[in-house]
Amino acid sequence: MEPSARPDPSTVLKIERLCRDFAAGDEVVHALRDVSFEVRRGEYVTIMGPSGSGKSTLLSLLGCLDAPTSGRYWIDGEEVGRMDPDRLAAVRNRRIGFVFQSFNLLSRVSALENVELPLYYNRSIPARRRREMAKAALDAVGLSHRASHRPNQLSGGQQQRVAIARALVGEPALLLADEATGNLDSRTSLEILALFRRLEEQGKTIVFVTHSPDVARYSARTIRLLDGRLQEDAPVADRAFVEEIP
Ligand code: ADP
Ligand code: MG
Repeated sequence: MEPSARPDPSTVLKIERLCRDFAAGDEVVHALRDVSFEVRRGEYVTIMGPSGSGKSTLLSLLGCLDAPTSGRYWIDGEEVGRMDPDRLAAVRNRRIGFVFQSFNLLSRVSALENVELPLYYNRSIPARRRREMAKAALDAVGLSHRASHRPNQLSGGQQQRVAIARALVGEPALLLADEATGNLDSRTSLEILALFRRLEEQGKTIVFVTHSPDVARYSARTIRLLDGRLQEDAPVADRAFVEEIP
């Protein structure tokens, strides 16, 4: 294989000719075919495509939950395609923050304790510092006043904000969102999309996977997949206007 350059520090994500095949009976499904793109630090990118186009497969690779059949990729300068499972888990825990459609909060503990959880993977952070970091992350999503509430005492939008604080608390290089507004009504979705815009203004790097063109309009750039191929990679022409955050 040709040598390829390690990305420079302003590149958070570099993907080079990524392929992922699945065996399905006697056949091979090419879920991703030769997909290449880069995401620079501070970019807010949407990955779009119809059902079956390869979004979940790509997301699993970006989230270090799967390995490619061929191709190479780097997250925050680390080549992850060929790492052993322990190092892969370390990249996942330290460099990536996940936001899911279904919030995935622990129901029996407070908002603050939910936000603190990812920090337990890093043994060098003392308990008091963990608490401070979690408070700051909750504050950043406007939920300091709900710190001691449990998830079932919060609205859907508030629960998603707790999940976003949890994703941000370890200061990851990359925020990965999977249909993060998929379970919310339209007004609450706008509130969350406005929050993502504010995170972009603060310099966070965001990759948001969605099938919704309305959601994609809030990002700065759209990557479209079709049948596992990169079909289009373009700036958003009519970027949505965001009013004052509710
Ligand atoms: P999307 O998330 O865009 O709907 P997926 O990444 O889930 O698309 O799927 C892309 C293609 O790969 C589909 O044809 C799907 O059936 C196939 N696929 C995904 N995962 C597997 C798997 N574990 N085994 C076999 N085929 C798979
Ligand atoms: Mg999917």
